[in-house]
Amino acid sequence: MATSLLRIPPPRGLLRPLAVPERLLLGPGPSNVPPRILAAGGRQLLGHMHPEVLQVMDEIKAGIQYAFQTQNRLTLAISGTGHCAMEAALLNLLEHGDTTLVAINGIWGQRAADIARRLVWGSRRQPASPGGSLLSFCFTQALVRHKPSVLFITHGESSTGVLQPLEGLGELCHRHGCLLLVDAVASLGGAPIFMDQQEIDVLYSGSQKVLNAPPGSALISFSEQAREKMLRRKTKPTSFYLDMGCLANYWGCDGEPRRYHHTAPINSFFSLREGLALLAELGLESSWERHQANCAQLCQGLCDLGLELFVKEEKARLPTITTVRVPKGYDWKEITTFLMDNHAIEIAGGLGPSVGKVLRIGLMGCNSTSNNVDRVLRALQDALGHCQRSRL
Ligand code: PMP
Repeated sequence: MATSLLRIPPPRGLLRPLAVPERLLLGPGPSNVPPRILAAGGRQLLGHMHPEVLQVMDEIKAGIQYAFQTQNRLTLAISGTGHCAMEAALLNLLEHGDTTLVAINGIWGQRAADIARRLVWGSRRQPASPGGSLLSFCFTQALVRHKPSVLFITHGESSTGVLQPLEGLGELCHRHGCLLLVDAVASLGGAPIFMDQQEIDVLYSGSQKVLNAPPGSALISFSEQAREKMLRRKTKPTSFYLDMGCLANYWGCDGEPRRYHHTAPINSFFSLREGLALLAELGLESSWERHQANCAQLCQGLCDLGLELFVKEEKARLPTITTVRVPKGYDWKEITTFLMDNHAIEIAGGLGPSVGKVLRIGLMGCNSTSNNVDRVLRALQDALGHCQRSRL
């Protein structure tokens, strides 16, 4: 029916076909999605309370318990990205009067401190130098001094390429009456982490890195101690959407009949289920070994190109994301743009404390292959030659 009421015409862009070029995503995430996971996300919808969907959610829960190495019953996927899990963890754990101690070894600590500050008054920071990790003596001093109820730390700092050791930290926190909250968005599946054995109270990760699923769902698990702290809350969490009590029910973690809370991103859950299935089929140990081996090959290749690795100590390097200093006289943006335009490869510049200093190369999940290492090294060599020539 023609009418004269419309003032805004249909947008021209939407009348053209969707354009999605083929790219090799070797930045810090997202990583490429393999056909099996893509196909799962493209399946026909089911209702969010259908038994088959609840079954998929149960399988996701079991997959997270495997990936995290935990028996925690309060284990589920958040309908949102890694940031959403970070917010969920903090806003469910913290109440006014709580102090959070945030270990800052890169941008993710800064983000956590920002979120904690919005939620409660008491947030204290414990900084590390960029490219370095935090040592346990700093923690003991800070725990005694600030008496926090939660310590936040990032396991795989994607902004600096540092893998933070966690040994003994959970036990130390518990001795000081503090819960340990760990961000493993960039490290899960690429470096060992053992939630129960390492006494981690809250652990979260994302779907779009080693798990190779599209962004949009985030894995999270709470220990019994963390669950009890949430049960003791005097006030409700400030978000309904991320209220862990409601989510625990929808995910079948509280033994009660499951009730509608929100319409879950069902197709994202199908993809996440397949990402977790691929990890279970490969096995955690093989996955860790594969990331370690390809990272070592990449580091060697970068050194052979005359480049300088940002993280000096070999065992402090994050096996999923490698940081290399921007060579003197080069513009990082020119290099990343060259790779994108001429090789259809994404690598990234720095973020937060590493902005302008580094290039970041991610090899995650199915993208962590020897062939991809060769491809990105060849592309980088080409870029260095070209970008250098263009400034002569
Ligand atoms: N933590 C870390 C360590 C990350 O690398 C990222 C994503 N780069 C996030 C949190 C945030 O995740 P998202 O972008 O999925 O919200």
